[in-house]
Amino acid sequence: MIGKSLLGQQWYGLTFGDHVTQIPFLDLRAGYLELRSEIDAAVARVLESGWYILGPEVENFEQAFATYCEAEHCIGVANGLDALILSLRALEIEAGDEVIVPSNTFIATWLAVSAVGAKPVPVEPDRRSYNIDPSLVADAVTEKTRAIIAVHLYGQPADLDPLLAVARQHGLRLIEDAAQCHGATYKGKRIGAHGDAVCWSFYPGKNLGALGDAGGVTTKDAEIAARISMLRNYGSRQKYVNEEPGVNSRLDPLQAAVLSVKLAHLDAWTAQRRKLADRYVDQLRDVSVPFVPNWADPVWHLFVIQHPKRDRMMARLQDKGIATMIHYPIPPHLQQTYSQNAFKTGEFPLAENMAEQMLSLPIGPHLSFEDQDVIIEAVNRIAAEI
Ligand SMILES: *Cc1c(COP(=O)(O)O)cnc(C)c1O
Repeated sequence: MIGKSLLGQQWYGLTFGDHVTQIPFLDLRAGYLELRSEIDAAVARVLESGWYILGPEVENFEQAFATYCEAEHCIGVANGLDALILSLRALEIEAGDEVIVPSNTFIATWLAVSAVGAKPVPVEPDRRSYNIDPSLVADAVTEKTRAIIAVHLYGQPADLDPLLAVARQHGLRLIEDAAQCHGATYKGKRIGAHGDAVCWSFYPGKNLGALGDAGGVTTKDAEIAARISMLRNYGSRQKYVNEEPGVNSRLDPLQAAVLSVKLAHLDAWTAQRRKLADRYVDQLRDVSVPFVPNWADPVWHLFVIQHPKRDRMMARLQDKGIATMIHYPIPPHLQQTYSQNAFKTGEFPLAENMAEQMLSLPIGPHLSFEDQDVIIEAVNRIAAEI
């Protein structure tokens, strides 16, 4: 579709060429157009304020997002990866430590652990929910283990209570990678302050997305909040007084202003995602659809099906002009970055199997039921044929 944003083209499965994609994976531009006057006004307000680093726009968003997440504190940072890295640093996790991570996650979860010099120790997911299997976590704990990172994958909360119990029993920290689950609830409480630090990405394609990179950490712990706040700003609490080797990872006020606008619309957008997810679950046949535990209220960042002939299905859908994506095609333990860790193929079979069979269908607040009907019909027909 000519005229779509470059970002959409590169990252959301739009293609140009012999056949023009009719249904994009995610229409980012529609999210801007729906709120155009509000977003334009917010951007103009920042430009006219003359205040371009931290300041009131960032503080307003931090306050609003903390409240939204039922957390006491929110610290805006530059992106989701930094949110994870700075949380690990604030909790003093360092070289020689081990951190338990899901075997099936976006690489950022693992890279954050590596960035502080610690070792990622993978644990396989629950077969049905795709989130880390709490019953396997205790077995992965060693003397060096300092923390668990739970990822709320695809917008579905991980089972936090048993993870908190293992953490308590072994004196570990629980960090949540919440980059895909803005607004989700676990047993009726919003994701945002169950663990010690909850890490958010506001990358444009996330459920709450900025118009560029942005991230944040929410927590109920004032001390952790203060440390992250210092670390994101040169390790300084007071200008020109430097306590630790911090970094520059501040949330940009322009992005904060955009996020404040979008936050007010997040629940309506989530409601739309939920309607679409229900329609997929009700109408798709011959493919496995996600399972939702009764304690979870997911926000459907992605709608992921499984099929043994995934690649063939993906190609056929592409031929029909339907863009799909794979989350994720290579599990972290088989990435070249981790070749020195000597993981073997077959060592984490569930993660490997998911990488071979998972396929993400278009979902987002601006996908029409009409377009979704086309997708459902195509998937059902292809599943019956291949
Ligand atoms: C997007 C994402 C991140 C990283 O966020 P960035 O803002 O792109 O750095 C981390 N973890 C998960 C699970 C994500 O989906």
